[in-house]
Amino acid sequence: MDLMEYQAKELFAKHGVPVLPGETVADATAAGTVAEKIGKPVVVKAQVKTGGRGKAGGVKLAETPAEAVEKAEGILGLDIKGHVVHKVLVTEASDIDKEYYVSFLLDRANRTYLAMASVEGGMEIEELAVERPEALARVAVDAIRGVDADKAAEIVATAGFPADVAAEVASVLVKLWEVFVEEEATLVEVNPLVRTPDGRIVALDGKVTLDGNAEFRHKEVFAAFADVVAADDLEGRAKAKDLNYVKLDGQVGIIGNGAGLVMSTLDVVAYAGEKHGGVKPANFLDIGGGASAQVMADGLEIILSDKDVRSVFVNVFGGITSCDEVANGIVQALGMLGDTATKPLVVRLDGNNVDEGHRILTEAAHPLVTVVDTMDGAADKAAELAGSN
Ligand code: GDP
Ligand code: MN
Repeated sequence: MDLMEYQAKELFAKHGVPVLPGETVADATAAGTVAEKIGKPVVVKAQVKTGGRGKAGGVKLAETPAEAVEKAEGILGLDIKGHVVHKVLVTEASDIDKEYYVSFLLDRANRTYLAMASVEGGMEIEELAVERPEALARVAVDAIRGVDADKAAEIVATAGFPADVAAEVASVLVKLWEVFVEEEATLVEVNPLVRTPDGRIVALDGKVTLDGNAEFRHKEVFAAFADVVAADDLEGRAKAKDLNYVKLDGQVGIIGNGAGLVMSTLDVVAYAGEKHGGVKPANFLDIGGGASAQVMADGLEIILSDKDVRSVFVNVFGGITSCDEVANGIVQALGMLGDTATKPLVVRLDGNNVDEGHRILTEAAHPLVTVVDTMDGAADKAAELAGSN
C-alpha cells in the first residue's frame, strides 16, 4: 500500500525522524485555520499518491493564513497526473540550505535491500539518476545486519555528505531503517531531506510503500491509512469485500478462479476483442477457490456497476470447488442481484463436475446467461456482445 506524504511523515515522527508540524485538511478555510495555529509561514501541499507535485503546482508557499486559504483553493481539485487532489497538508515552511535524497528499498534483481543517497536531492532526482548515476550512491544493505551506525556512516561517506552534517544524516538513516523494518515497508524515500540554514536535518517530503503481505501484522496502521476517498470507487468497494479486483479500461467484465486463469482470460479476451471493434477486458477479478454464491454475487455486483462494462465473461475451471457449486453460485447471485443485473453474461465452465454445472445453468435458463464450452469461443462471444451493445 502506497502512503500519502502526510501518512509517511506520521510514521517518520513515530520513529524519531525529524519532520515539521502540520495538519491535513480537505477544505481551503481549514487550511487557513491550520496556518493560523502554526503561526509561521507554511507550505500547502497536495496529498496525492504520485510524485512531481512540486512541478505540477501542487506545492505552494504561503506567508499568511489568508494566503494559505488562497493557495489551498488553487490546489484542491487540481488533477496531478490523473490524481485529483482531495486533501492538502499545511505544514510549517522551512528555509532550505541544501536538498539531499535518501531511500531504502527492496532490490529484487540483486536479492537484497538497497540504500540510495545523494547530496543533490530535490525535484530533479529522476533526471540525475539517468544522466549522472554516479551522483546517486547505491549501497547494498544486508537483511540480517540492517543499518546500524557503521552502515549508516558507510552510506553517508559513499554519497559524499559534507562532514558537518554526516553524523546527523547517519542518525536519520538509522531511524529511517527502523521505519523500513518495523513498519514492514518495501520503500522508504525522503526527497528532499534538507539541511536548514541553522544546520538541522529535516525530512520535508516522504514516500513510503507498506508491504501488503504484512497487513495482518499491522492492522491498525493499514486501517488508519486506508484511502477513504477511494472507498467509493470500484477498487475500494472490491477491497472492502475482500475481492482480488483490479479495474482496467476495457468493456468486457472478467470473473475467473485462480490468478493464472484470470490472466490468460484477459489475454484471450483482448485478442478476441480485436475482431469486435477493439473491445478489451474491463477488469481483473479472481474469485479464488471457494466460489460461493455470495462471492460470485459480490464480484458480479462490482463488475456490473462499472459503467464501462457491456458484457461479462465468467471463466471457471472447477477444481476443489466443483462446477455445479459455481453454477449454483451464478444462479443464486443473479437472483440476489435481481433487476440490477442487466448486462449479458457468457459462462464457460470446465473441470470437476462440469456436466452437472451445465445442467444447472440450462435448467435455470436465465435470459442474460449464455453458456459456451470453450474458453476461446466464450471470449469471442463476450467480446462480440460488448462490441454490439
Ligand atoms: P514532490 O514534488 O511531489 O516531490 O513534493 P516535495 O514535497 O518534494 O516538494 C517539492 C519541492 O518543494 C521541494 O523539493 C522543495 O524544493 C520545495 N519545498 C517543499 N517544502 C518546502 C518548504 O518547507 N520550504 C521551501 N522553501 N521549499 C519547500
Ligand atoms: Mn519530493
